Amino acid sequence: MNLSKSKFCNGVQCNKILWLDKYKSEFKEEIDNKNVLDNGTEVGIFAQKLFGPSKNVSFNSDLNKMIDETNNYLKEDNVIITEASFNYEGNFCSVDILKKERNQIYLYEVKSSTQISDIYIYDISYQYYVLKKLGFNIKKVFIVYINSNYIRHGELELNKLFNIKDVTDKAIDNLDYIESKIEEINNYMLQKDEPIKDIGLYCFKPYECPYFKYCSKHLPRNNVFDIRGMTINNKVNLYNKGIISFKELLNYDINEKYKEQIDFELNQKKEKIINDKIMSFINTITYPLYFLDFETFQESIPKYDDTYPYMQIPFQYSLHIMESKSSDIKHVEFLARGDCDPRRDLAISLINNIPKDVCVLAYNMSFEKSVIKALAHTFPDLSEHLMNIYNNIKDLMIPFKNRDYYNKEMKGSYSIKYVLPALFPDDPSLNYKNLEMVHNGSEASSTYQNLGKYSKEELENVRKNMLKYCELDTFAMVKIWQKINEIKEEK
Ligand code: SF4
Repeated sequence: MNLSKSKFCNGVQCNKILWLDKYKSEFKEEIDNKNVLDNGTEVGIFAQKLFGPSKNVSFNSDLNKMIDETNNYLKEDNVIITEASFNYEGNFCSVDILKKERNQIYLYEVKSSTQISDIYIYDISYQYYVLKKLGFNIKKVFIVYINSNYIRHGELELNKLFNIKDVTDKAIDNLDYIESKIEEINNYMLQKDEPIKDIGLYCFKPYECPYFKYCSKHLPRNNVFDIRGMTINNKVNLYNKGIISFKELLNYDINEKYKEQIDFELNQKKEKIINDKIMSFINTITYPLYFLDFETFQESIPKYDDTYPYMQIPFQYSLHIMESKSSDIKHVEFLARGDCDPRRDLAISLINNIPKDVCVLAYNMSFEKSVIKALAHTFPDLSEHLMNIYNNIKDLMIPFKNRDYYNKEMKGSYSIKYVLPALFPDDPSLNYKNLEMVHNGSEASSTYQNLGKYSKEELENVRKNMLKYCELDTFAMVKIWQKINEIKEEK
């Protein structure tokens, strides 16, 4: 079969991905990796700048045209080429960055990740193999990736933002493997009947396979892969031992928390509420009470001063305020314009809306705390007030994380996305699916990052939808808070 870098890497993960892609692609599920792809494109553009002026081979569905263009550029003695394309016996590859110095070739594979994984080595090894077979004199091969320790101060320093790792020895060591793997893939793809392949760790690593639902269709409805919080390695180990159904798992020696999820599901158990524990939690909370939630975005290439790759940059928050238990609930919010660093305006708005020494509730507070701490570090003049807020945050997630309040609809999770529908199954005002345009955090961040693409008329509606989404996050917290307070009243 005709291979490319990505197809070869799919084959390294599992040959059946390629077979299903060819014969049963209708079973492929969507995996949300748009942000990863966007980040990858941006990283590629910046990495090219590291090397100075270059010739680019433009994409063409006729791969021969790309190869011809590459060969033209390669006539020069010294040249940098991006997307230089080659084909050896049906094994095609485009090299992210190729440097030719006199007669020697240097290959660079660019990754938006902050670490080098084995699959990246196979990726560049495949390219090395193709060019080697075509007779090129390859001096070195490298992986270019993001330096997570880089902090931007002033202009971007590309030589500090990127790490460049020489992996030539590994690529040479892998040559025999690449050759035999290509042969194996070609033989595998000759099979007309669907090959039998059991599920395993390779269904999740290095990437989540889009065919897992299809390949696991033989499993019982509730099975080991539905257990929350268990590592994938442990799930696969249990699967391999034949401990698969909830019934089998209930009689096996696993953590009590997993057993509880199974027990509730299998035995249709009623809601569990440990009143004393819930009351102890409630007694740590004081009025006035501020329910806080941030939305953030992450970028591989730090845009602003004092930021680092993949740092969480807050651009929006929602705040519901209860002055007392019986008072009306107030709502305030902030959404940055989208055309400049949002952090200082957001931090000022936050300290204007949250006085010192009040109780602030977040759901999974480690996230909100880390955002506030970073703001305090960046803006020393606002630090005292911000750190006061930081020190007064409490976590509404605690009763659910500790399973002091649990029902089977939570399916072993204490994430608000599970807890909320489990507590309010029939309330359309709390259903994220009923929102327009923005339904989750990743949609909120990608919408914010693309605000510049909307017309003035569209923008008003887009911002309205973003505000509604974030407002629902803190409104949901208010409802959860009221719900657990009913327990206190019932007692
Ligand atoms: S789900 Fe697993 S077995 Fe099926 S194609 Fe993907 S990796 Fe292979």
